[in-house]
Parts: sequence; structure tokens; C-alpha cells
Amino acid sequence: MSYPDLQLYIDGAWRTTGDSLPVVNPVTEEEVGRVPVARTGDLDDALAAAERGFEVWSHTSPRERADMVRAASDLMRQRQDEIAHAITLEHGKPFQQARLEVIRGCEFFEWDAGEAVRTYGRVIPSAPGVRYVVHHQPIGPVAAFSPWNFPMSQPARKVAGAVASGCSIILKAAEETPAGALHIAKAFHDVGLPPGVLNVVFGVPADISSHLIPSQTVKLVAFTGSTAVGRHLTTMASSHMTPVLMELGGHAPVIVCEDTDVDEAAVSSAIRKTRNAGQVCTSPTRFFVHEQVYDHFLDVFTKRCAATVVGDGMDEATEMGPLANERRVPALSGFVADAVDAGAELMTGGKRIGDTGFFFEPTVLANVPDHARVMQEEPFGPLAIVNPVSSLDEAIACANSVPYGLAAYGFTNRADYADRMVEKVEAGNLSINTLEASLPETPFGGVKSSGYGREGGTEGLNHYTVVKNVSHAMKIV
Ligand code: NAD
Repeated sequence: MSYPDLQLYIDGAWRTTGDSLPVVNPVTEEEVGRVPVARTGDLDDALAAAERGFEVWSHTSPRERADMVRAASDLMRQRQDEIAHAITLEHGKPFQQARLEVIRGCEFFEWDAGEAVRTYGRVIPSAPGVRYVVHHQPIGPVAAFSPWNFPMSQPARKVAGAVASGCSIILKAAEETPAGALHIAKAFHDVGLPPGVLNVVFGVPADISSHLIPSQTVKLVAFTGSTAVGRHLTTMASSHMTPVLMELGGHAPVIVCEDTDVDEAAVSSAIRKTRNAGQVCTSPTRFFVHEQVYDHFLDVFTKRCAATVVGDGMDEATEMGPLANERRVPALSGFVADAVDAGAELMTGGKRIGDTGFFFEPTVLANVPDHARVMQEEPFGPLAIVNPVSSLDEAIACANSVPYGLAAYGFTNRADYADRMVEKVEAGNLSINTLEASLPETPFGGVKSSGYGREGGTEGLNHYTVVKNVSHAMKIV
């Protein structure tokens, strides 16, 4: 299996450009491919194609659209090994995890395809001869921006929502991990999606967003990435009051109550913390553990994190690959140095492994003071903070003390504790006694600086349609 030939996909055709960027294997630091850089003319072509594609696709029956999305998903399932192989090469995550990600991407397509045919309107009772009917119509061409941490499932969420709902889309996928988006385009191309409905571009992110977002063609901006970039794109979108769907950073708290099964909570949390090398917006990071069980939790959690098999994602035994790119290494080391300076205890990890590949040790910091930078900023890596608390109320106050509110977790078997978390924890997704934050059929997204809107579920699909209320007075004869 080889790494795919990377091209732009515009108006139903593949193209290269004069300029390209390297795609680097984070295990070997060697180039595995080159991704073309879109020029202004390519972006203009994509905008024009998306307008034409929208005209065709929004007038295609929902059933026909759903059939095509499902057919493309079937192809991606057939190609799962090939896609997962490319993702492991460019991102470093273990092959089995890459394969699960491909399957998750397919599930997004399949659920959205099934649900989009149920985009029902409603009839509102009124005076005789007058009818009020609410229609949901596809919103228009979408500009979407997907990040490098999940090369398949992140673009899949956006393409699935747009294409199943009858929109066209220009996807700017991550230049560092382009293979998933490329394979999505390939599958839709192979099943005969009309030209212009799906366009995939790569290049200089700021150049692309500043060209696409202010365009009058674009009717929705969907972005997943950091809060800082999301804020910038939202400001650009506001020039035409273009709606935005923003899935931004998180800094997930985990509340461990004294009544819980501590071993199970600690082991499952350590496994989840190191998944995707912690580069997940829902990664469990700030652990607030009741003082009665603190020492036991810290011991089991630290040992399981330290035992994580770190290595090349192509090796079957590997549980955690390298960080996805070079800049995450100093970012992680910086968080550790700052926390230790502030008085935190380094329980395990804390540094780069070797000098080839962007490997970083699973890291546990205990008793981290509030003024350490990592207490407020998302580390986005295999780093966890474990602090003691004396009550559930204190844990909830700590959980809510950051500007983020994406995922949050709690471990308890007490109904009153669980109920208090449901009432008080500030998060778009709260998981109790599980570390699963969402499914294709559930809404996923944040509150506070973690963003705006939801992906997944009927709530997610709603972003890709606009509501039109039609008042119709009929002549009674
Ligand atoms: P970054 O802030 O430079 O970039 C984040 C993402 O935004 C990348 O995918 C990048 O290509 C894109 N981007 C950057 N500038 C852009 C622009 N002007 N227009 C359009 N897209 C733009 O940070 P980074 O070093 O790539 O990633 C580190 C941080 O990003 C992490 O700390 C994390 O908070 C965040 N992040 C979040 C997610 C997520 O799933 N929410 C995914 C990846 C990164």
C-alpha cells in the first residue's frame, strides 16, 4: 500500500498547482508526499463550481442524495485498510485506531444520509383559507475547515452534513494530514457525485479562509480547530452575517467521586488520555479526585499511563504514536516546565522520547497549582493533571474554572452526585461513568469559548438548512 498522490479536487476534476507543501511522517520525519497549494484562481474556480453544484444538488431528491452518500460510504468501508494506512503514515496514530476512525467517518455519512430524508417541515394551524408551512431548505455552499488530529472523521462530519442536506461544500482539509479528505473526494467522485458539489482544497490556511469566507457565495462557515483561529474566522464571517459552526478547543475535566470504582476509572481514563496521543478536543485532562481516593487513583492512573506502549503506529503492539507534528513537542515540554516551576509534582513522563520522530512520554502532573499555565490552556497532548478536592462542589467549581466547556466527565454511582453534575457542569457534552463523548446520532459541541453550534444528531444537520416560513392565503371558491 502506498501513500496517495495528493491533488486538489475542484468541479469534479483533480488538479495540481505549481506549488506544494511536504507531508511528513512524524515517526521518521521523512516526507511521504506533497500537497498542492491552491492559488487564488483555484479558489475562485472552487467558488464558482460550488455555486453550480448547489444549483444541481439542492434540486436533487433527498432520497437520491442519500443513496449517493451511502454508496460513497460503502466504497470507503471497502477501502478502509488503504485509507487507515495513509493516515497512520501521515499522522502517526496506531493503524487499528486509524481504521476505527475511518469506520467512524463512514458512520457519520450513513447516519446523516438516513436522517436527511427526514428533514420534515410543519404546518401551523391558522384561519380558514390561510396556511402557514415551515420548510427546511439547504442553506447553500459551505466553506469548511478541518484539522489535522482526525484526518478522516473530522472532514467526514462536515462533508456528510453538507452533502446529505443538499448543500455544496468547499473543504479545506489539513495540509499536514490530507489523506482522509482526499479519499472522501475519491469515493464521491467514483460514485458519480455531480461536479462542484464537493470541492477539496489545500494550501496556506490564512490565504484560503480570507478568500473563501468573505465571498458572497459562501452561506455557512464550519470550522474545527483552536479557539483563537475560530474567533478570527467568525469575525470574518460577520462581514456578511454568514452563520458559523465552530467546534473549538476544550480542556476536559474529570470528576472522580469517592464512591466510584477507582481502579476502573483510573485505567479507562489512562487509556483514553493516551488515545491519539492526547490530541483530541475531548481528551480527559484535568482530573479532580476526591481526597479519600486520591492517592489510590493517582497511583493506578500514573502506572497505567507510564505502561503505555509508545511507538510506530504500524507496529501492532503500539498503543500511542508520536505527536502529529514537530511544533507540539516544544508546546508540551513548555507546559511541563512551567507547571513544575509553579510547584507541580511530575509523576511520570514530561519529555520527548529519542531524537527522531515526535514521540513524547505520557505525562502525569499532580497537585498542580492554579497559576500554572496548563490549568487554563489546553495542552492538546498526552498530559494529565491530577488534583485532590474535598467535595463535589469544589470539583465542579474547578471544572468550571476555565473558559472552555466542550466535554466533561464524571465517575460516580450516586444519583444525587450525577444529578448535580448534570445541573452544574458547564459543558456541551457530559459523560458519566464512560469516556465516550458522542456518537453520529448525538449532538456534539461546546459552550463558552469551546464554540458555537453542534455537529452530529438532528441538531448538527439543522445548521445545513435554513427555515422558510410560507404564509399562503388561498381563494375559497
Ligand atoms: P493553530 O491554531 O495554528 O491551527 C489549528 C487549526 O486551524 C489547524 O488545522 C490549522 O490548519 C487551522 N488554521 C490555522 N489558521 C487558520 C486560518 N487563518 N484559516 C483557516 N484555518 C486556519 O494550531 P495548531 O498548532 O495547528 O494546533 C494546536 C492547537 O489547535 C491545539 O492546542 C488545539 O487547541 C487546537 N486544535 C483543536 C482541534 C479540535 O479538534 N478542536 C484540532 C486541532 C487543533
